[in-house]
Amino acid sequence: MSDCVFCKILAREIPSTTVFENGAVAAFLDVNPMEKGHVLVVPKRHWPTLADVPAGAAEREVRDALADAVRLLAKAALRAGWAGANVLQCNGEAAGQTVGHLHFHVIPRPAGGAVPPAFESGAARYADDAERAAVAEKLRAAVAAVLAEEAAAAAR
Ligand SMILES: [Zn+2]
Repeated sequence: MSDCVFCKILAREIPSTTVFENGAVAAFLDVNPMEKGHVLVVPKRHWPTLADVPAGAAEREVRDALADAVRLLAKAALRAGWAGANVLQCNGEAAGQTVGHLHFHVIPRPAGGAVPPAFESGAARYADDAERAAVAEKLRAAVAAVLAEEAAAAAR
């Protein structure tokens, strides 16, 4: 979709801070984070909502990759030192979806944060580009640690 901001990010026409990517999905920092470290996990195929994802065998690999990336990023948030993580997924404007390309929010939460957590875009701000880069690097390192640990466990 030529007018889709996430497709433009995936095509690298718009810059983003990627923390994980494989052949089927990408995960990058939300530009209006609810909390520092807020990541969006998106399929590389353009589907507006979950309801648009085909149920057939041909798309099973993408569905599995998407679910596994959400699992990985939530685990990485905990590994990176956050106390908790929310996963949020919105389908349609009525549900608060603002970009019409399927995505899962993985929102790391510090200990002692507001309960219930604030699901407000822009609720958090990075002090500067260096802090954003440091948070992304912390997540990337945690993703790498989790993947290495799981590969070692699978090889046993
Ligand atoms: Zn798109």
